[in-house]
Amino acid sequence: MKPAPFTYHAPVDTGEAVRLLGELGDEAKAIAGGQSLVPMLALRLATFGHLVDLRRLDDLRGIEHRGDSVWIGAGTTQAAVQRSDEIRTALPLLARATPLIGHFQIRSRGTVGGSLAHADSAAEYPAVALTLDAELETLSPHGRRTIPAAHFLTGMWSTALADDELLTGVNIPVWKGRCGFAIEEFARRSGDFAIAGAAVALRVDGAGHLDRCAIGLFGLGPTALRGRGAEAELIGTAAVAGDPDAIGRCATADLDAVPSDLHGSAHYRTRVGAAMVARAWRRAVQEALHG
Ligand SMILES: Cc1cc2nc3c(=O)[nH]c(=O)nc-3n(C[C@H](O)[C@H](O)[C@H](O)COP(=O)(O)OP(=O)(O)OC[C@H]3O[C@@H](n4cnc5c(N)ncnc54)[C@H](O)[C@@H]3O)c2cc1C
Repeated sequence: MKPAPFTYHAPVDTGEAVRLLGELGDEAKAIAGGQSLVPMLALRLATFGHLVDLRRLDDLRGIEHRGDSVWIGAGTTQAAVQRSDEIRTALPLLARATPLIGHFQIRSRGTVGGSLAHADSAAEYPAVALTLDAELETLSPHGRRTIPAAHFLTGMWSTALADDELLTGVNIPVWKGRCGFAIEEFARRSGDFAIAGAAVALRVDGAGHLDRCAIGLFGLGPTALRGRGAEAELIGTAAVAGDPDAIGRCATADLDAVPSDLHGSAHYRTRVGAAMVARAWRRAVQEALHG
């Protein structure tokens, strides 16, 4: 199938893009890399009278250290993230998540902002943003907003973005100290969306106790999720003392809307999710304690 006819707009600055989205209302949709939107248009799962292409907007691209965070422009491709030394050094979790997204061709076009705005519950970037308490920057005709990742992701393929609002960038805090980061996922084939996955970030103090930890889950609910109950139980305990399998079960114990489809039942996904938490936990502890 082919997409329904639409009018194509190619603004050259962000102000013009936002103005177009404001004027055209819910008939218009922003398009970045097209890796999620184009298949939906081609299958006519979505139709829009106007597409506003973001690819000429230079101010939406870039990777910059800003204070205690790294800012990544929404239009930055996933391939540029994968190539970035800054990301590898400052945000190892994001660096390790990126090669798990689709295939090289998809990452060459797919953008950071597209992945976050599309908000697939099985996608890696929303889970990393939630795990690292990222803040998302937006612009609309009504002004700028900064939205914590936990408030940005509102449901399956839905976010706090208004129809006339653009995601302009994401600020991801850099963790300092003796930290460990790991992301694990299970997919039927390399490059497929994960059936279930987990991201772990943790930090130990001089005595080897956990003074910070975050467990992100993906493919296990309508959005990426945090295992906050498990995190609260782990803070202050010795990193070597935790049983990874028990931590995996604890982090997935309270899930109440796990998807069930032809790829796996909710029960199966929950068990896979627990196993992914356990794997990621082991690797993150190893890194924090032994580098
Ligand atoms: C075969 C295949 C496998 C894939 N596998 C994975 C995978 O394993 N993991 C994964 O995470 N993703 C996967 N993807 C999706 C891919 O990562 C997409 O790149 C990403 O989901 C969307 O990014 P995009 O730049 O292409 O956005 P687009 O497709 O252009 O847009 C997606 C949505 O985001 C909105 N949008 C885009 N940019 C902005 C912005 N700046 N402000 C507001 N709204 C915006 C659009 O309006 C649209 O609603 C896969 C895609 C394919 C085709």
